[in-house]
Amino acid sequence: MLAQDLHIHTIWSDGDSAVVPEQTVDFVAELAHARVAGISDHLEFIHDRFDAYSAQVRGAGFKVGMEVNGHEWLAAALEVDCDYRIFHCFDRDADYAALERLLESGVPLIVAHPNALNTDLRRVPVECLVELNNRYVWRCDWRAFYGPHVERFRFVLSSDAHQPNWLNQTVARHVAARLGVTEHLVFE
Ligand SMILES: [Zn+2]
Ligand SMILES: [Zn+2]
Repeated sequence: MLAQDLHIHTIWSDGDSAVVPEQTVDFVAELAHARVAGISDHLEFIHDRFDAYSAQVRGAGFKVGMEVNGHEWLAAALEVDCDYRIFHCFDRDADYAALERLLESGVPLIVAHPNALNTDLRRVPVECLVELNNRYVWRCDWRAFYGPHVERFRFVLSSDAHQPNWLNQTVARHVAARLGVTEHLVFE
């Protein structure tokens, strides 16, 4: 069993074509693949029904998260209660500024798969958690991308699962071991 997995999508992300109909909150719960798990559906698909989303996620024993797509969604992200946030930090001034605002709310903030978004980690505040994400981490020269920042950040390992068989962290854990990164457990 994995120690932690906080990046999981379900059918609540109904505009994300990578999510399959079988990826329900209940089925992810049934698979029980991580000791602490959180559901982090895309805010743009859940913000107008966040209470129902939150109730179902928490009722199934998960932490309540969300994935926020850049600074355009900052206000909506701050409007709702959650246990943690995952943020798409594109390489834009307003996105780095949004990180500061989100940190002020006191909720753990994870910078999602920075190598897939061209995030400049030099501009990311050290209080942010940086994600090594099974879906994307292998799609780059990860030694060059993450290596220079290993001492500066705490890292979380995630699957970014959109389908039941994606609920694993094989590559993320390989990369973390090679980089000498210790997994940061957010809720322990
Ligand atoms: Zn993402
Ligand atoms: Zn995601």
